[in-house]
Amino acid sequence: MDFSLNDEQKMMIATVRRFIAEELKPLEDEIENQGFLAPEKAQAIHDKSKELGLYALNISEELGGGGLSNLDRILCEEQFGHTTDILIRRAFGNIYEPLLVCQGEQVNRWLKPTVAGERTCAIAITESGAGSDAAGIKTHAKKTQINGKDGWVLNGSKHFISDGEWSDFFLVSAKTGEKEISMFMVDKGLPGFVVGKDQKMMGIRGTPHLELFFDNVALEPIALLGGEGQGFKLAMGALNVVRLAQVGARAVGKASHVLELMVDYAKERQQFGQKIGDFQLVQQMLADSAIEINAARWMVYHAAWMLDQGFDAREQIAMVKVHAAETLGRVVDRAVQIFGGMGFCKELPIERYYRDARIYRIFDGTSEIHRTVIARSVMKKGAVLFDVNR
Ligand SMILES: Cc1cc2nc3c(=O)[nH]c(=O)nc-3n(C[C@H](O)[C@H](O)[C@H](O)COP(=O)(O)OP(=O)(O)OC[C@H]3O[C@@H](n4cnc5c(N)ncnc54)[C@H](O)[C@@H]3O)c2cc1C
Repeated sequence: MDFSLNDEQKMMIATVRRFIAEELKPLEDEIENQGFLAPEKAQAIHDKSKELGLYALNISEELGGGGLSNLDRILCEEQFGHTTDILIRRAFGNIYEPLLVCQGEQVNRWLKPTVAGERTCAIAITESGAGSDAAGIKTHAKKTQINGKDGWVLNGSKHFISDGEWSDFFLVSAKTGEKEISMFMVDKGLPGFVVGKDQKMMGIRGTPHLELFFDNVALEPIALLGGEGQGFKLAMGALNVVRLAQVGARAVGKASHVLELMVDYAKERQQFGQKIGDFQLVQQMLADSAIEINAARWMVYHAAWMLDQGFDAREQIAMVKVHAAETLGRVVDRAVQIFGGMGFCKELPIERYYRDARIYRIFDGTSEIHRTVIARSVMKKGAVLFDVNR
């Protein structure tokens, strides 16, 4: 096994790291204080990131993206974790993998403009009555005739849709039969499509989370993504990669960033005439954080490697989701403790990291749901689950 990174990978990490430190970190306080990212600043970071070839890294070069392998993408996503959600979205793009199923005219209308950063997309699965049970949605689409052609009419609602305000179109899951779920690309501005309120959250300020309402929205046949009844499979399959990248790798990056701050503070802050980092109880918090982050990082890299080798990594990614999200939670909690009152005080970003981290255990499948998946697999397959060579 070769665990080393090659020179190209090291250079790529250094470029992303520098871009985040120089262009994105300075915007964080402003977003936190005013609650949004100014559109002209969003445009500026988007343009600079494109210039450096950092936009749409997860998409193939033929489509205009960065063409990175899963492992290389993960290395970048880990660095993305050093900054906030809205800055990552605006600077590096948020091109959801289900879009790659686009065919024919769909490619020019939705996929390519999104990869080019001319259009922005959000994913809309959750409803007020259907969260963990994503198959329990009520939103439905019925076949109809539009201008003499087959089309669809969409009714229902969604909530908690990240980035909804910035998005030009949405990947919407809808029932197209008793049990059958399909996926549609729904453009903002269509008659009957109403964007509701921004649902204020305890963290990740600056990212809007919207309600969406569909009242007899007429959709052309071309709006159907990946065939009738394919929506659920499509979303769940694609979200697996999203989970590894946007939750697993970013959580590892965030936790590492916070640990760096904890170490600096422990070396500098003095009490009882000595550095707090000399106290063994403080050292224990640093050591436990380092151990857990290290384990989470290798789990993330391993799952990415499995995907690149063509292995089914669903179970590994479920484990990554739980472990990385919970590691981040424990690390930010220890950070508040090590910083003492300053950890709780808004003069430093530690309290923000603490709030921002909490969602990692909830979105993209809660810890409980992923534990259920893992338990089911381990009961069926035993310890062989962990061994890709058997
Ligand atoms: C900030 C934020 C951003 C989001 N972004 C998006 C987005 O862009 N697009 C989108 O579609 N959705 C989005 N979501 C929705 C998110 O994915 C859901 O909140 C999540 O899946 C949980 O669903 P729920 O909130 O309805 O909780 P519920 O499903 O109601 O769960 C409540 C509790 O019950 C537990 N529970 C439920 N079922 C089981 C079970 N079978 N076994 C054990 N425990 C169980 C859960 O683990 C949880 O603890 C976002 C949510 C938030 C808060």
